[in-house]
Amino acid sequence: MLFRNELKFLKRLVVKVGSNVITNTDGSYDLPKLEGLVKDIYELRSAGVEVLLVSSGAVNVGRPFLRQNPKESIEYRQAASSIGQPKLMQKYCELFHASGISCSQVLLTHDDFKSSTRRVNAINTIEVLFDNNIVPILNENDTVSYEEIALGDNDQLASKAAIMLKAQALLIITSTDGLYDKHPGNPEAKFIKEGSLGHNLSSFEMDQIDPVGTGGMQSKVEAMLEATRYGITGIISSKDLVPMILTPLSEERGTLFTPSKTEVPS
Ligand code: GLU
Repeated sequence: MLFRNELKFLKRLVVKVGSNVITNTDGSYDLPKLEGLVKDIYELRSAGVEVLLVSSGAVNVGRPFLRQNPKESIEYRQAASSIGQPKLMQKYCELFHASGISCSQVLLTHDDFKSSTRRVNAINTIEVLFDNNIVPILNENDTVSYEEIALGDNDQLASKAAIMLKAQALLIITSTDGLYDKHPGNPEAKFIKEGSLGHNLSSFEMDQIDPVGTGGMQSKVEAMLEATRYGITGIISSKDLVPMILTPLSEERGTLFTPSKTEVPS
């Protein structure tokens, strides 16, 4: 498998897909997207790349099973996630099984990254999973935590996982081609091919654009910049690329965030 120049030595990758990538607004699965994602991860594994998948979608999958509530409280979303998470995992297990590999569920909270004992436990678990050719699928443990539900749609979680696992790359798949300096619907918006800690991105308009899930571009860029500080190469790219994961890893697509190693992971 040939990767783009910046990822020539790719051995460990964290891929994050938002709720808007794998589910529709009514909470149903976007099956072609899920199938494509599984196929890409299978190919990466076959090429010797370890992949941790960070997947949102639990809230959206679980929501139709609760009574409608236009003012969604945090606990309403937590309950929806509690319903949706096992269903989402069941779907992933089915699809990965059909392609001949197994997957596993990893639920973490931001507090887990702060505690060295919990971090070590998470790292040890995931290393065993990688060694056994299993694809770990990470989501926030929404019942006891709500940082991503409220703010980030797992962008920060993915960045922290990439740093913790010393991945070489973090790929965040979203509903636009990458980063624009203005809202992508604005005809004057300019596409940003490359970003880094040194660039001044604060003047960019990065409002929420996703009808499903939380986060928006701001949280993705923050997650990327944090990862680059630990030597990780980041890419934000579109869910409409075919293949969705392999294309931005092998071609110059999406917005690339170049690493500027200033921190050493503990
Ligand atoms: N953990 C949540 C989920 O899986 C995050 C996504 C959101 O904020 O909707 O649905």
